[in-house]
Amino acid sequence: MIPFNKAKNIVQSHLFQLGNESVALNDSSGRILTEDMAASMPSPRFDNSAMDGFAVCAADTIGASQENPIELKMVSISSAGSPSDVMIGPGECAQCMTGAAIPKGADAIVMVEDTSGFTDNKIVQIMIETTPGKHIRMEGEEIKKGDMLAIFGTGNELVEPGNTLEPGQIYNSNLYVFADLAQKAGAEVVMRDVIQDDKASLRHFLSDALDSCDVVISSGGVSMGRYDYVRDVFMELGVKEHFWKVAQKPGKPLFFGTGQDTLIFGLPGNPVSSYIGFMEWVWPALETIMGKNESEPLTGKLTESFPREPVKKRFLFGKVWIENGQLVCRPASKVGSHMLTSSLDANCILSADPEDSILNNGDKITINILPWKTVH
Ligand code: AMP
Ligand code: MG
Repeated sequence: MIPFNKAKNIVQSHLFQLGNESVALNDSSGRILTEDMAASMPSPRFDNSAMDGFAVCAADTIGASQENPIELKMVSISSAGSPSDVMIGPGECAQCMTGAAIPKGADAIVMVEDTSGFTDNKIVQIMIETTPGKHIRMEGEEIKKGDMLAIFGTGNELVEPGNTLEPGQIYNSNLYVFADLAQKAGAEVVMRDVIQDDKASLRHFLSDALDSCDVVISSGGVSMGRYDYVRDVFMELGVKEHFWKVAQKPGKPLFFGTGQDTLIFGLPGNPVSSYIGFMEWVWPALETIMGKNESEPLTGKLTESFPREPVKKRFLFGKVWIENGQLVCRPASKVGSHMLTSSLDANCILSADPEDSILNNGDKITINILPWKTVH
């Protein structure tokens, strides 16, 4: 008889590495890259808007308030996938949707909620003062061209990975993440598509989906943007809305509705909002409808501070591990809802209820371990 550890070591010493092979992105879930992959482009690829709103010159908004709105001339529209090439001069602004390129000349975004709204009016009232850079995601702030990538797959701006990107376009990654997560949850994906931001295409896809699927999950198009039609089309097709907009960050514009025998989740398009939205809302629903017990969230001790929001539940990807028999954890350092790289090293999602103050090192926090990850 051979001692256990010795036997382990013998097996260990005979292990070898399997060779490498090329597989399609769709089949790459759980695979490990054999070579480092350099980013072929920065991420974000171009300066773009983090909010549905108006691109302005911040200096024009000095002194603007609810009581004293300033008026700007609306000179163009930049939507995701259709960048505007109109230069914004002093006194001017452009409608600019989430993910749309910032028009030249503008240096800040004012949320549509702080304006007179998206209309065809040429005069727009701005009711808040803003500062340069506000609500703009800067080119390369997440990944610089040439940085090393591990792997993750990320409207009108969406192009399938591998194709050439025109100005204002980005790769669709969310559907690859969703397909992978759905498969991990034990669900079968029967329909999947990238749909343009127009009502007819949405109607076509969704009426089929509502007839043939138990659960419909969408990414993007449910926010405040002028071309966010997903919710309208669900309603037109007779879906009963149970809620739209949840006090959570990221992923506030979450839609939940039901059809005849269908659950409908409309998740916002930001990759982190989509991923966390799937795990916090869709995954538990899938478990329940498939007859599994929903997994209980755990509590652990923070080794770093965690931001909280005054009125929203805050979620961040995180890392949890075991120290002296206790769960300890820290949040990802990247907090932007467009920064999917925050999920790469994560094995859990951390969440904290709304509160004015931050959570400190040593405080307790709720941990939702990603079910396919391990904790050491
Ligand atoms: P939306 O919710 O449609 O306003 O989209 C919010 C942000 O997420 C924008 O910056 C979009 O370009 C981005 N986005 C939407 N769908 C996807 C997707 N499938 N993959 C990657 N990014 C996306
Ligand atoms: Mg969109």
